[in-house]
Amino acid sequence: MRIETLKGDITCLEVDAIVNAANQALAGGGGVDGAIHSAAGARELHEACAAIGHCDPGDAVVTPGFNLPARWIIHTVGPVWKGGDRSEAATLASCYRRSIQLADEVGASSVAFPAISTGVYGYPPDQAAAVAVSALRQVSGATSVERSILVAFDDFTFNLYKGMLGQELQ
Ligand code: ADP
Repeated sequence: MRIETLKGDITCLEVDAIVNAANQALAGGGGVDGAIHSAAGARELHEACAAIGHCDPGDAVVTPGFNLPARWIIHTVGPVWKGGDRSEAATLASCYRRSIQLADEVGASSVAFPAISTGVYGYPPDQAAAVAVSALRQVSGATSVERSILVAFDDFTFNLYKGMLGQELQ
């Protein structure tokens, strides 16, 4: 599995699956969650999420992408940052792992991730980027996922990813 980065709006990407930084109630919210709900079609996505009902931190669920270019949305719930000693890193790593597992279950070959937990949930972006890259590098075994894309919404995050992925960028 190749790990790439790009800067931009995840809702516009022509990939098989995009990952949403959701909340436990799958209720929609601000940030990337709000952008994904609006772009996918708020009513349809809200209904699909309500039918699933709940997702624990570190876990993920999948819905269709509705009006998005992406066929699937993988909703994962990141940890709320509480200083770093509440297993935040393990929970965040689990978000990336579980998302790749679900992407494999639906047969996605390309998956785009936002910087989970680094907005309202307050995870320090540098530490979150390190967890993201390390969790994705540890994906082993057969998977349908050929490309995972770490999507940065700002230059700071983009530079973090570029620095960490330096050797893997072409
Ligand atoms: P969380 O609640 O998990 O912290 P947020 O949505 O508040 O989630 O933020 C997660 C990250 O998503 C932040 O780095 C934010 O800048 C980024 N983000 C917000 N909107 C978009 C978007 N449309 N595309 C990609 N990333 C986005």
